[in-house]
Amino acid sequence: MNKQMEQDIASRRTFAIISHPDAGKTTMTEKLLYFGGAIRDAGTVKGKKTGKYATSDWMEIEKQRGISVTSSVLQFDYDGKRVNILDTPGHEDFSEDTYRTLMAVDAAVMMVDSAKGIEPQTIKLFKVCRMRGIPIFTFINKMDRQGKEPLELMEELEEVLGIQSYAMNWPIGMGKEFMGIYDRYNHRIEQARVEGEEKFLKLDEEGQLANPHPMMETSYYKQAVEDALLLEEAGNEFDTDRIARGELTPVFFGSALTNFGVQTFLETFLKFAPSPQPRLTANEQYVDPMNEEFSGFIFKIQANMNPAHRDRIAFVRIVSGAFERGMTVNIPRISKTVKLSQTTQFLADDRETVNDAVAGDIIGLYDTGNYQIGDTVVGGKSSYQFESLPQFNPELFVRVTAKNVMKSKHFHKGILQLVQEGAIQFYKTLHTEEVILGAVGQLQFEVFEHRMKNEYNVEVSMEHIGSKVARWIENEADVKESMTGPRSMLVKDRFDNLVFLFENDFAMRWFSDKFPDIRLYSLL
Ligand code: GDP
Repeated sequence: MNKQMEQDIASRRTFAIISHPDAGKTTMTEKLLYFGGAIRDAGTVKGKKTGKYATSDWMEIEKQRGISVTSSVLQFDYDGKRVNILDTPGHEDFSEDTYRTLMAVDAAVMMVDSAKGIEPQTIKLFKVCRMRGIPIFTFINKMDRQGKEPLELMEELEEVLGIQSYAMNWPIGMGKEFMGIYDRYNHRIEQARVEGEEKFLKLDEEGQLANPHPMMETSYYKQAVEDALLLEEAGNEFDTDRIARGELTPVFFGSALTNFGVQTFLETFLKFAPSPQPRLTANEQYVDPMNEEFSGFIFKIQANMNPAHRDRIAFVRIVSGAFERGMTVNIPRISKTVKLSQTTQFLADDRETVNDAVAGDIIGLYDTGNYQIGDTVVGGKSSYQFESLPQFNPELFVRVTAKNVMKSKHFHKGILQLVQEGAIQFYKTLHTEEVILGAVGQLQFEVFEHRMKNEYNVEVSMEHIGSKVARWIENEADVKESMTGPRSMLVKDRFDNLVFLFENDFAMRWFSDKFPDIRLYSLL
């Protein structure tokens, strides 16, 4: 591999921002893009509040609801690094796509609202990152408002998420009294609401301000210096290896909205976030990003981004080598070769055609029905496959039928394709073979309904059977149908594995107490 390409690959930083809705992910993304020069004014990415639609919101359904259905990819250059941010949707638009996006990144930034602390969706997304062992950087946001005490927030991180933390900086006051941050890592104080040279104040060896400053008289400053000392003595040690393994999260305090601490965060983050990492194949071989041969895997397929063309786009995370327009790749699953002539890359302002991209980058391939989620694409002669993407535990279920029974053929075809594409999960009842769909987020059902109508011309009826706790069974042979009851339903998944759908955790525990020999397990 030539030097230039090695440098290009080493310069990539590919990550996602995870958070509970309203913690400030969109605001943060805008500020980062702004620093990267990818947008002119912070505040233009997602116009859901102003009625303008962002360029990353393509699908019709997205326009109708003013939300982002699937994750988009944003790219910019900063400090000699090429940054790829994979956006993960929040809220009602939460879906399996959100989880799968985390399979394609090398690091995650976790936004936490300082007043709310760790919220439910943060926990779910965190778990997926944790499972992958990727580094997680924490940004505690909204310091311009009154929030929880910083020590309490650090404790929450450790107790609720079970991850150790290292405070890179520490707030001096908060809300109206927010004076800035005590930057332990850069050994300086960064003042809020001050621009120019005065913004950064030097610290001396004792960790006190090196030069006299009015701030020194405030209780907030004294508290911050005291806390910093305490952290030095009793806190975790800064350890880059443990950060890289996702065992220790560096914590930054700041305010995305007032753009405080964001640039310092970005610069420090880029220093410690990993360059593209190797990936395991199904045969447990690592494929190194510097491997000359192009390879990648599809982590998402997005249909109908442009209703006029009804195209599908398969998103590929490049694992090794470089992509060149017009190259031929192999899809080992179906032993087929395809020429990659039409590809797109995603920028904040526009969708541009990509000519080349390297390991770490995300490219979008126009898909005419060749690809499935989890597919490997390899250049050259190799035909290995990357280890399969995990399946995620569904939480919501609907019973679904075609409104018009005459459309049954289209109905089944549509379901089969959407299930294969990974849009929704398929289950069926044991004898009656009624179709039950599972999802991790409500929006998946809406997208399903919309696409069945638009792409397969079938109107569906969906009967919500609510949220369930799904458990697979290690020893299926020991399961008897008589074990089911009103609070525990037995179904089959699309591979014909048996699955119990329990009404809630309580029903599941009751079942386990009653039938201790049945070994249940959960997907991710
Ligand atoms: P998302 O749902 O995580 O993408 O959150 P948004 O970025 O849309 O932010 C949710 C709300 O919090 C918006 O009204 C933002 O203006 C506000 N917000 C974001 N960051 C800050 C901050 O640092 N301070 C304050 N006071 N508000 C913020």
